[in-house]
Amino acid sequence: MTENTDDIVKSRMYARQQLIDGWDQDVINNGTIMIVGVGALGCEIGKDFALMGIRKLILIDLDTIETSNLSRQMLFRPGDEGRPKAEVAAERLKEMNPFLKVDYYFKKLQKLPMAVYEESDVVIAALDNFNARLDLNKICLRMKKPMVEGGTVGFEGHVQIVIPEGSGLQYKNRELEIENLVETRLWDITEMEYPEYFEAQRKIEELESEIERIKKEKITPLIEKFRKEIEMVFDWKFAPEILDQTPCYRCLVPIPPADDKLVAACTLKGLPRNRNHCVIKAEVEFEKRHGHKPDLNTNEEVFKLKEIAQDELEKLRERVFDENVPSEERESLTQEEIEEWKKNIRETFGEDYKFEEMENILGNKIAAIQTVSSIISSIESQEALKLLFRVKGRNIGPPMDPCYVNYNGVYGQFDALPILKRKDCLACGEIEGEENIQIVVPFDADVGYIFEAMKIAEYELDPELWMITSPMTKEIYWNPYMPSLKDPDIKLTALKIKSNDIVSLTPLGKALIESEIKKYNVIIAFM
Ligand SMILES: [Zn+2]
Repeated sequence: MTENTDDIVKSRMYARQQLIDGWDQDVINNGTIMIVGVGALGCEIGKDFALMGIRKLILIDLDTIETSNLSRQMLFRPGDEGRPKAEVAAERLKEMNPFLKVDYYFKKLQKLPMAVYEESDVVIAALDNFNARLDLNKICLRMKKPMVEGGTVGFEGHVQIVIPEGSGLQYKNRELEIENLVETRLWDITEMEYPEYFEAQRKIEELESEIERIKKEKITPLIEKFRKEIEMVFDWKFAPEILDQTPCYRCLVPIPPADDKLVAACTLKGLPRNRNHCVIKAEVEFEKRHGHKPDLNTNEEVFKLKEIAQDELEKLRERVFDENVPSEERESLTQEEIEEWKKNIRETFGEDYKFEEMENILGNKIAAIQTVSSIISSIESQEALKLLFRVKGRNIGPPMDPCYVNYNGVYGQFDALPILKRKDCLACGEIEGEENIQIVVPFDADVGYIFEAMKIAEYELDPELWMITSPMTKEIYWNPYMPSLKDPDIKLTALKIKSNDIVSLTPLGKALIESEIKKYNVIIAFM
């Protein structure tokens, strides 16, 4: 095809969308969209932009395709199992639109060169876990890139747009915001300051017919006065806070939920207490016996894993029976009563395992369905499209405001939720060098386990260089420089630390200089 016929084909392809008010195909033709996560949402969003004629897509995903993905992730087909998602998606999107350029990365978003982010006009988060979202949020804030974030759980989903400070994108309408501030200012005045305003308000009630006249005489001048005052300072005092940025993702998640690996680690130390624990324990037992984690794509290994999990489940049922029906009471029970107990326990912990159930538990999977994925991804695409126009200095409609929308598929209801920017946000706020973390510890954990739990949650700190204190009482629980306060075996319960208490970890010596984080606020949850 020559360049000329290419242009004609393109022009025909995009004919209908060019009828939209304010549309400029050149914006799309020159745009670059980065999609982080090529799962159910990422596939749909990739498809949307490929069809609309985006110049370039950058796809990031570190997973390979699994059979359970095929019910939702519309770019993948039976037979693709085992191949990298980003690579297959790139192929399929190019089939849809041969003019499309696609770069793909089969690696972690944190490992990408910053130039890849730099090149993107809009970044779309289509991820399935908190930590990756938090990291991407941080990178986008730093790179001043607008981000559209979305997620689904079962029949529910949400979309949030994040416009970082300094991205140069006008988020809100200047005139509207000034109005709002004048309105707010009026609520604050007292009769002492402006008696004529209040008098006027009373007269309005009394003299319906004179409302217009009085307003003109007494109220409008005041509004004009405030408007002038606010307008004069608006650009430096209010605009940076409300016009050009939104709250970020971290503003909504000040304390991320505890890492699942911690829950798993605790399960191993203790006895399994539910169905899921038995499978997690079985996985570790499998690794002990066979020297590697079970491969869930190999039937033989799945059977072996199931056998161990089944055994743990049986032991759990027996333990619960012994706890509830002590042996001395057992003699007074009839055979039927004992059978009734056993039946109840069986129902509580469920029947034998099915393969998909073990896969869901070990992979920490969440409920997902194509219908909700396509709704949420379409909203993400739509918002990203408007942002792309804005990045290119054009306007095809404002980004959604409030910047967060929730969808409930059970009731078919959308709720736009006003969210607030937190001054103490650890990503976009004024606090620097702090980090909030939640860790899960076994009930009998000692001080040393705090460092171990931090390590499992991927915050590896050297116990010789960090101090642990109570932010409330200032009591020192661990100080490596003081032998009397350096007992890793002392139990947290002996220190009177209760579940959901917070401890502070602060650096000493070399760590004080080298660590970017100067304080970890750690919530301790006992399990
Ligand atoms: Zn924030």
